[in-house]
Amino acid sequence: MIRFHNTLSNQLEEFKPLKSGEVTLYTCGPTVYHYAHIGNFRTFVFEDLLRRFLECRGFKVKHVMNITDVDDKTIAGANREKKTLSQYTEFYTQAFLEDMKTLNLLPPKIQPRATDSILDMIEMIRKLIAKGIAYEADGSVYYRVAAFPAYGKLSKKKLEGNIEGARVDVDEYEKETGADFVLWKKAKEDEPSWDSPWGKGRPGWHIECSAMCMRHLGETVDIHAGGEDLVFPHHENEIAQSEAATGKPFVRFWLHAKHLLVNGEKMSKSKGNFFTLRDLLEKGYDPMAIRYALLAVHYRHQLNFTFEGLKEAREVIEKLDNCYFQCLSRSVLGVSASKKMAHGAGLKAVLEAVVKHLEDDLNIAASLSEFIGGVTKINTALDQMNEKELKDALSFFKKADELFGLDITSIDAIPPGVKESLGQYAEARKARDFSFSDKMRQQIKELGWVVKDGRPGEPSTVKKIRRAWDTKK
Ligand code: AMP
Ligand code: ZN
Repeated sequence: MIRFHNTLSNQLEEFKPLKSGEVTLYTCGPTVYHYAHIGNFRTFVFEDLLRRFLECRGFKVKHVMNITDVDDKTIAGANREKKTLSQYTEFYTQAFLEDMKTLNLLPPKIQPRATDSILDMIEMIRKLIAKGIAYEADGSVYYRVAAFPAYGKLSKKKLEGNIEGARVDVDEYEKETGADFVLWKKAKEDEPSWDSPWGKGRPGWHIECSAMCMRHLGETVDIHAGGEDLVFPHHENEIAQSEAATGKPFVRFWLHAKHLLVNGEKMSKSKGNFFTLRDLLEKGYDPMAIRYALLAVHYRHQLNFTFEGLKEAREVIEKLDNCYFQCLSRSVLGVSASKKMAHGAGLKAVLEAVVKHLEDDLNIAASLSEFIGGVTKINTALDQMNEKELKDALSFFKKADELFGLDITSIDAIPPGVKESLGQYAEARKARDFSFSDKMRQQIKELGWVVKDGRPGEPSTVKKIRRAWDTKK
C-alpha cells in the first residue's frame, strides 16, 4: 500500500490514482527570474524522487511542470536589466533546464510556459466572471474570495477577518486572511501585456498554474506538489479558481516539501548563505553529492544544508562508485570466483525493501539505508561472487539508479583499450616488471580511467575518472 501525507487532510492517506495504472502529477515549476537556488532544488529533487518511485512501482506518470515566465518578479527583472521579458526569461529557462540535467532530474513530459498559455487563462477567467465568482474593477479582474465558501481548506486559514472588498494586486502576499486576489492585471506602461476582453493586461501568477494544470492533465489531478511556501496563497488560490470553474475537486493529493535551511538559518542573499547550484559547482562540489544531500532527508523534515553534509554525501557517492566499478571490472574482465556466493547477497530482497520504505510517504532515510546496506553486503562478498552474482549486483545498482537518480551506472562498459592495458598491467605486476606496469597505469589514465590495485589475492580493477575527487588521487 502506498501512503502519502496529504496537506489537504493533514493526514497520511492511501494513494491510488484516479485511473488505474496512470498518475497525473503537476509540480509548480521555477519562476525564471534568477538561477534556481538549492532550496528550490530540494523541492525539485523530492518531486523527482516521487516520480521515479511511482514509475518504479509500475505507474505511467504524466508529469507536467510549468515555467513561470511572466509574473511580478520576472517583469521587474527584465525592466531592471532593460531586456524584453522573453529575452530575460529565456536565459534563465535555459539555465534551469541545464541545471535539471546536471542534477539528473527527469525531464517532465510537458513543460508549458505561462506565456504560451495566456488564452487558456483568459478562458478560465471568463468562466469565473460568468459564474459571478470573479469581477472586473478598473481594467483588472479579481477573484471574489467570499464567493467560494471552501476558501482556506488547504492552508486552514480562516476568512472571518477578511475585509469585504479588500483586494490584493501582487502575486505573493502573506496576509493572514484571504483577500480578493487578482486574476488579470491591467497593463502598466512599462509592462508586457496581452489583449483580453478586459483590455490589455497580463495574468496573475495563480491563474497560470490552474490553467496549465487543467489544460494538460484534466480537471482533477492525482498529485500536485511544491514547496511549503506555496500552500498559501498560491495553492489555496489555485483550488479556489479551479474548483469554482469546474465544480469538481481540483487535486486529490497535495504534497509539500519543507524549506531548506542553510546552517540552521533561512537562506537569504543578505546573509550571504544563498547558494545557487552553480555556486556550489564553482566551488568544486560534485552534482551527485549535491543531489544526494538534497535527497537524503525526508521531504517533510527540515533539511539543514551544511558543507559538512555535502562532504558526507560525497563519501556515500564514492562508496557507491567504488563498489559499482569493482563489480563492473570483475564482470567485464572475467575475474569472478566460480564458487557460489557465500552470503547469497539477497539483493532481490534488499531491493524490495528499498522500494517498500518509499511506499511509506517516501521514507527516504530507511530506503537509502537499506540500499547502502546492500552495497556493504556486496563489498564483503565480492571475492566469492560468481559471474551471475556480479551481473545481479550490476542490475541492483541499475535499479537503484532508476529510483534515486544518482548516476552510478551510466558508464556500463570498459573500453577495449582500457581492458587490454589492464590485462598487461596485471601480467607485468605478476612478473614484477614495475616499470612496464607503471606505463600501463599511465596509459589507462590517459584514457580517462584509474587503476585500483587489489589487496593480495584480489584482482586489480579500473574506475572511470568522472567526479571531481577521482582526479585528486
Ligand atoms: P519559485 O521559483 O520561487 O516559484 O520556486 C520553485 C519551487 O521551489 C517551489 O516549489 C517553491 O516552493 C520551492 N522553494 C522555494 N524556496 C525553497 C526553499 N528554501 N526550500 C525548499 N523549497 C523551496
Ligand atoms: Zn504553481
